[in-house]
Amino acid sequence: MEFHDCYALTYPSAREKFRAAAQAAGAALYTYSGNANSDKLATDVAYFGNMNAQRRLVAVSGTHGLEGFCGSAVQIAWMKSGGPALLDDNTAVVMIHAINPWGFANLSRTTENNVDLNRNFIDFSKPLPANPGYHQLHARLLPAEWSTEGMRNAQAAMDEYESTHGRDALFDCLARGQYDYADGLNYGGAQREWPNLILEQIVEEHLAGACKVGFIDWHTGIGEYGEPFFLCFHDSESPLRQQAVRWWGAERIEGAQPHGRARPNYQGLLCFGLQQFLGDTPLCGAVIEFGTRGWHMRRILRLDLWLKFHASGSQERIDMHRADLLDAFCPVDEIWRGSTIRYGQQFMNEAVAGLASWEDA
Ligand SMILES: [Zn+2]
Repeated sequence: MEFHDCYALTYPSAREKFRAAAQAAGAALYTYSGNANSDKLATDVAYFGNMNAQRRLVAVSGTHGLEGFCGSAVQIAWMKSGGPALLDDNTAVVMIHAINPWGFANLSRTTENNVDLNRNFIDFSKPLPANPGYHQLHARLLPAEWSTEGMRNAQAAMDEYESTHGRDALFDCLARGQYDYADGLNYGGAQREWPNLILEQIVEEHLAGACKVGFIDWHTGIGEYGEPFFLCFHDSESPLRQQAVRWWGAERIEGAQPHGRARPNYQGLLCFGLQQFLGDTPLCGAVIEFGTRGWHMRRILRLDLWLKFHASGSQERIDMHRADLLDAFCPVDEIWRGSTIRYGQQFMNEAVAGLASWEDA
């Protein structure tokens, strides 16, 4: 499998490659869009296997917009490498391509409302989760001027916070999600984003009737360069956790520390929404990341916001920042790209085999 057969340079090209590979591999294809401004921004769903299969694996790309370049490539690699042919009669795969197409198409991690879709699956009828640490940092984190001095000031604010509260607490307040600053980092939104509504519709239309569901949500930015990093949210010792360990191995599932820090208390993850939409149907799976620049990614998340809200200077300067952002989430390096599609096929096949052999309790 060659990396350039799976990776794309733009969202429309990724979409075209996905749809072509899905069709060639015999999928039923569906399209969803909720963006009134553009019929070109769509989420595609490819369904492989028996429509009445009791076991179904959901694989999602593009939750974080431009991270979808990698997730899409992994999906395409699995389809092109004969993955669908390995499905037994009782196991199906539901591929969701570009669940956040605006972010994918516009090279941003967020939706058109600056919402981190992976913090948006909360109950908005209840009081919103508080993040006092972020409140303390916000004003200095995101300088209007992206300059050495602005960055130094932001770093000083984070250093001060860390010296008082510790490095885990700093990471937690930066990453867990916040619901107070619409122009801030990891903003979870004030209501459900349209991709959130669409995911619910996809679950209704393609997962109803399943007795067991597996999932992989493909991401990039955490872990060693070109290496996978699993975030598994099932309680330790729980049967679901044991399933995930059986599929992918304890060394990948247990004790994973993103950026060497305690895992943030993430709010509103897409996989939480998936479980909610599925009701009592057991859902087993993980967020799978591929590492790029490690801790330096925290700065890149802020660059995403600067490009959205403050970008100034020459077009050349803005283009350079944009290229930096894209390379941070999806390195142009063919070694990295080759590594991700190899691992991706492996983890997909392991999940399919694990799901098919998941014994009833
Ligand atoms: Zn992500």
